[in-house]
Formats: sequence, C-alpha cells, structure tokens
Amino acid sequence: MSQSGHRYTLEIISDSGELLDQLAADINWEPPAECTRFTGIRRGQIPAVMATGERVVQPVWHPKLERPYVCEFYLTVFGDNGEQVSAEIPLSYVGDLARRASARLVEKGVLQAGSRFHYRVFAVEDSAATQSEPSAAPSFSVEEVPRALPLHTGCLLDALEDGLRFGTMTAGDMPVFIPHHVLTEASVLARQAGANETGGILIGHLLRGPGSPEIFAKITAQIPAKHTRTSLTKLTFTADTWAAVRGAISQRGQDEIQLGWWHSHSFLKELCRDCERRGDGTCTTNPSFVSVEDVALHRTCFPRAFSLALVISDSPCGGLGWELFGWRCGMVVSRGFHITEALQPAPRLVTASIVNRESQHGKN
Ligand SMILES: [Zn+2]
Ligand SMILES: [Zn+2]
Repeated sequence: MSQSGHRYTLEIISDSGELLDQLAADINWEPPAECTRFTGIRRGQIPAVMATGERVVQPVWHPKLERPYVCEFYLTVFGDNGEQVSAEIPLSYVGDLARRASARLVEKGVLQAGSRFHYRVFAVEDSAATQSEPSAAPSFSVEEVPRALPLHTGCLLDALEDGLRFGTMTAGDMPVFIPHHVLTEASVLARQAGANETGGILIGHLLRGPGSPEIFAKITAQIPAKHTRTSLTKLTFTADTWAAVRGAISQRGQDEIQLGWWHSHSFLKELCRDCERRGDGTCTTNPSFVSVEDVALHRTCFPRAFSLALVISDSPCGGLGWELFGWRCGMVVSRGFHITEALQPAPRLVTASIVNRESQHGKN
C-alpha cells in the first residue's frame, strides 16, 4: 500500500478536563481485521478464506476536536485477488488500553480509584509505521483451523423457523443456533460444580445456504472440559482438555469444529449465601459478564471471528442465566442467539387447510 501509516497516542483526561497522561497506543489490529474479513465473507465480497492478505487502517478525524484527533478508525482488509472489505472501528476499541492506563494512574496516585476519566486519541502520520503488514495468523490457536472456512450446507430460513430468539439481537451479527439440550447439559454441570467454575467446549458447524453468502453457526454439542484447573472464579483449560476435545470430535465423526466454549459463573453461591436482599428481591448482583481473564482466554484460544463464549450464571438470588458473547469489531460483546429444539412442533389445525400457504407461512 502506498499510504503512509499513522502512530496513535492515547490521552487520559480527568473529569474536570485536565490532561493526566499521554502514551503511545499500541493497538492490536488483528481482532478487528479478523472480524472485518469474516463480515466480507458473510456478504459474499471475498472468498471464504481467512487470515490472508493485507490490511490498512486510516484515522477518521474527529468532527469537533478536528485533526489530529480521531473519532474512529477505518479498517480495510484485502483478499488475495484484490477484493477489499472495509469497516468502521469505533474509538471504544481502545477502551481497554485506556482502562489499563487509568489503573496505572490510580497506582501512582494521580487518579482516585473509582473516579471518572475520559480518553481521546490522536494520530500522527509516520511513514515508518507499518501500515499494511500482512495480517498474520493468530499467534496461538488451540485448533488447526484450515484457512478455507469449513462450510456445510444448510438453510438459514429453516433454522430461524425452528429457533426461539434469546437475548438482544444486533444487526450484522452472525446468526447462532444452540440446541436446548446443550444449554441444559451445561446448566446441570454448572450446578453440580457448586460455587466453583466449570466449563466445556462448544462444537458444531458453520453453514451457508445455496442462495445467500450469509454464514450461520449451529452448535451441536458441548464437551465437558474434564482436564481443567478450576477455582471459584477462574477456569484454565490444559493441553489434556484440547486433546480430549479433538478425540471426542473424531469419535463423533460429524466433521464438527470448535465453535467456542462455555463456563459457569457460580461464585455468587458464596458471595450471596447470606444475602440480605434476597428476601425482598432487591439483590442486583449480576454474574452474566465476561471478566478480563475470560476475554484474555477467549482472545488466545478462540480468536476466530465466529468464536463464541457462553456464560452460565447460577446465583441464589438471581437463579440460572444464559448469556452468549462473541466478537464484534474486534471486541468481545454480549449477543443474542436462537434456541433450537426447545419446543415440540405445534399440532397442525384442521382449519389451517383453508388458509392459503403464504399467509400461513407469515403467521409462523
Ligand atoms: Zn444477593
Ligand atoms: Zn468467567
């Protein structure tokens, strides 16, 4: 690429507007590039091959603060044959860097713990900055995923008809389908583990229909991670876990791949054991989140744009909860999914025969 690169600087600002710190922002563009490439594949703009080609990141100048301040980033990835896909990456992508910088300021006593702060980013042109380095494959992946996406054939409309929407759906997210029995199995294992975390690997297929480039994911099973190190709030998969998962996939013989992982958050069984707010239903503790450690594990072990993380929460006050997280713009965020096999098909009414097929379809 001929455009020169940019260096980014992060500024931390107090609530009263005082500049507290200025540091070089070492931004990892790999996760948003992976997401942008996958979006391009799902739109049919580039072939279904991951982690090849180059990328370019350009600053988008802030409309109020103006150049050199940035309001977002414009990321373009290139296919092997010159195809290109672009995406706007929000400034919040550097939010983690800002939070880490603010934590250091708290340690130094410059910022008070719990006090509000703001951040902004400015860009300076720098021809030495690597602008279009090849987007390398993730540094560590637990599974050898071939560069060509392993796509099965399936009908998205059929899957949607079978599924129940769960959680908040966001336009642009890959549709995900999880059978009810997988959620139940994981929930039972979570409850059996008591207050400790437990987890497993989600396996299944990526599918594409004949008439649309859209890709959707169908989880088929969960494989309990037996070989883990667990504690109240931390789960670590070991080499034996991955070997067991590969063995199970091969034994099942259904050409499944690892689509993600699940783990439980049951620490409130300890923290809320004697909760005084349970009686009147005012306890607001919410264990449905991904911790910094969870995101780090996801980034290391499940870096593919389609990788999912299911959190099963179990608390004496809030009961059992399911929340799915996945990649969006290079960030791990909460997302909706569809529960399948949850209901028996409704009995067909005799009177349905007098309804024309189209309106009958519309009602379903
Ligand atoms: Zn409570
Ligand atoms: Zn967790």
